Amino acid sequence: MKRVLLTLVSLLALLVGVLVVGALRVPAPAPAASAGTAVTIDSVRAVERLAKAVRLQTISYGSGQPIDTAAFLGFHALVASEFPRAHAALTREVVGGLSLLYTWRGQDTTKAPVVLMGHMDVVPVPEANLAEWSQAPFSGAVAEGYVWGRGTLDDKTTVLSTLEAVEGLIAAGYTPPRTVYLTFGHDEEVGGLYGAKAIVDTLVARGVRPAMVIDEGGFMASGLLPGLAGRSAIVGIAEKGYVSLKLTAIAKGGHSSMPTERTAVGALARAVARLEATPFDDRLDGPTRAMLEALAPYLPFSRRLVLGNLGLTAPLMTRMLRSSPLGGALLHTTISPTMLNAGVKDNVLPPEATAVVNFRILPGETVANVIAHVTAAVADTLVRIEPLDRVQVDPSPVSDVHSEAYRLIEATIRAMSPGVALPVVPYLVPGGTDAKHWSAHSDRVFRFLPVPLGDGDQARIHGVNERISVADYASAVGFFTGLLRGIDRLP
Ligand SMILES: [Zn+2]
Repeated sequence: MKRVLLTLVSLLALLVGVLVVGALRVPAPAPAASAGTAVTIDSVRAVERLAKAVRLQTISYGSGQPIDTAAFLGFHALVASEFPRAHAALTREVVGGLSLLYTWRGQDTTKAPVVLMGHMDVVPVPEANLAEWSQAPFSGAVAEGYVWGRGTLDDKTTVLSTLEAVEGLIAAGYTPPRTVYLTFGHDEEVGGLYGAKAIVDTLVARGVRPAMVIDEGGFMASGLLPGLAGRSAIVGIAEKGYVSLKLTAIAKGGHSSMPTERTAVGALARAVARLEATPFDDRLDGPTRAMLEALAPYLPFSRRLVLGNLGLTAPLMTRMLRSSPLGGALLHTTISPTMLNAGVKDNVLPPEATAVVNFRILPGETVANVIAHVTAAVADTLVRIEPLDRVQVDPSPVSDVHSEAYRLIEATIRAMSPGVALPVVPYLVPGGTDAKHWSAHSDRVFRFLPVPLGDGDQARIHGVNERISVADYASAVGFFTGLLRGIDRLP
């Protein structure tokens, strides 16, 4: 008995020892930047230019409703008139119908260029939500220290703050050491199949192999993990894949007074329920594991015991993450039934019932894996499973955090908060961005906009009361200015 107890105590001591050693081996936080990048901008004028862009209703409709071409042409005209130096110094091409490709020729055109991406289009505002907006969604109102409206977070801020940076640098006499491409898509919100894809194809056909691509996707997050005080910069190094599957249950229709043994609605409901009961495996690897490891130095010792020992504590960490929707999205391929359709009359058995289920695919899995998983989970000959449309995207490759491009982004972010030990960590973007169109051609693709998004702010994206503070907008301009000034450091 005594020996058993002794063995148990020794094992426990050993475990504690291992955990403590793991926690102690977590490296120190990266040093804070000593000096910031000083950028002076006329934020009143800059904000007015952003507001003008917001007023243009460059809406992408998922429903196939035609876009307002004039609004996009208005955006093109706004860029030309509000950023005259950039418009004159850079070469403009319209690609894919309405997307913009600006080329800023560098001093050394033999060096690998840099690509700064953004998109002009926005999602619609549902009529039902209009009353909830404090300022009309396309007013571009400047009030209470914010610019309000659709696109202020996603993604006109990226486009306009990039242009502000370029305009300011040209005014200061700067010529980039290497060529810089500004690419602004017009259909990101519906997959970027005509805009960003066409631009990428155009550049690749010209032999462009970028040293760095940067697009939206990451941001300044707060309260990322319990025990983590203040903000963290999360830099997207990969994005999840995307597919929507249509499930069609087919049965005999007929009079509801004499139902067949299996009905289309019953079969479809069962299929959806089975699918939800068969989640994809959780995997604490790739970008999400890299994120936790990079956060560990900034956490108190008690948390480092967990994050410094992921080899042992992964199951615990997985359970913790799974308890929130974002945490779950970082761990597995998600299953979201989004549309249901069946029946025309209460006393008629429909011969067909359909559901659409949207999947966001974790790196390491593919569209083909998803279809196989769904087919096995549903396992019903009455239910046909097929992709909804041609938007079928495998997860992006994972970009290299040891690359000079990542280091430049990291250093630029730190320089925005001199004296602050700011966590800058890799991140798996759970949504999709136009950057995915570079997947097949570059592993130097990063996703970040230095805008702080607290809890409530994330719901503003595609939601109600989208807005950006004037100060945050000015700091976004500072970020792109600093980034462009640093591109001589890239290989
Ligand atoms: Zn966006």
